[in-house]
Amino acid sequence: MTPLSRRLVQMIRADGPISIARFMSEALAHPRYGYYVRNDPLGRYGDFITAPEVSQMFGELVGLWCADTWLSMGRPEAVHLVELGPGRGTLMADAWRAAGVQTGFREAARVHLVEISPVLRERQASTLAELSPPVRPTWHHRFADVAEGPIIVIANELFDALPIHQFQRTLEGWRERLVDVALDGQGFRLVLAPRATDAAAIPGAVRDAPLASVSEVSPAAIALAAEIAERAVRCGGGALVIDYGVNETRPRDTLQAVRQHDYHPVLQAPGSADICAHVDFAVLAEAARATGARLHGPIGQGRFLRALGIDARCAKLKAGANSTQRAAIDSAYQRLTDGTRMGELFKVLAITDPVLPPPAGFEVHPSEVRA
Ligand code: SAH
Repeated sequence: MTPLSRRLVQMIRADGPISIARFMSEALAHPRYGYYVRNDPLGRYGDFITAPEVSQMFGELVGLWCADTWLSMGRPEAVHLVELGPGRGTLMADAWRAAGVQTGFREAARVHLVEISPVLRERQASTLAELSPPVRPTWHHRFADVAEGPIIVIANELFDALPIHQFQRTLEGWRERLVDVALDGQGFRLVLAPRATDAAAIPGAVRDAPLASVSEVSPAAIALAAEIAERAVRCGGGALVIDYGVNETRPRDTLQAVRQHDYHPVLQAPGSADICAHVDFAVLAEAARATGARLHGPIGQGRFLRALGIDARCAKLKAGANSTQRAAIDSAYQRLTDGTRMGELFKVLAITDPVLPPPAGFEVHPSEVRA
């Protein structure tokens, strides 16, 4: 058993089974043994790979989006450029370089990184120190700690790591799925809570789902989306949320763990694998809209990147490359945009101050306007 497993077993023996959300947050973010706190999980030799690690084109286009958003905000003299869960800092570095095409943007932007992992903070510091001139960000544990002022927020693959609760429909109503100690005492198992959950905790769209259906709810994700939206409305600005997920609330069981590019049993050896769940964009959008913010999308990542000009960027990179590099650029392009790869499952949602025009990539095409 891992040290974290032993602690969780003690905790459950003392206080009873814990929610999946609690298990997930201990496994990912425990200050000593959490998966993200101890590891740099990204890249080919890590546990998984993300869009900015696939190609510089991804971060560059996000950087153009940020510069364009700043322009539409009326070029404020100071803007907080905030990234949530910045991994190795690759996205921010690529975005920063590309956003330099917009005169005045980099002078106005203060970089803030919201990151719980000391290992990744170090990695982010060295990535951004390599820029010329070097960028020295400010780190925070929570978005709420970023000082007041106009904001532009980016979050790629952060929301899927926020803890979720699972509920299951039974003959006695919805019951929460909890984590208990396995019968042999050597690991964990899922059990159902002895009492039914108040139906108000279950999203309306799934409340009447058939018996045995599972519903996933992430209060942490909902609260964060609302917090970002509220800030954009009050101080000006907007956010780009990119993640894999769905745009309708349905019964689902998407909780999964990933280790070394392969699936891993969710309850096994907590702290040693990434645990995540698909993002419910409909629920995030609803929470953001309730603050008065305007929502755009979600649209598929492929469509978003094409609207921002990935084809031209790809052609330009290939023009200066040898044949091996050209093949790598083509393969990255496919991976990021193709509907069978990251192009559809990954979605992009923009949350903006309602006074702003639709942000880059989300303009409605004339053929889509219904008469
Ligand atoms: N955005 C990066 C990394 C994605 S991995 C990329 O696209 O490559 C998830 C990132 O979120 C990691 O940096 C992880 O340490 C961070 N993270 C996980 N949970 C977090 C939380 N609750 N608050 C802030 N950062 C978190």
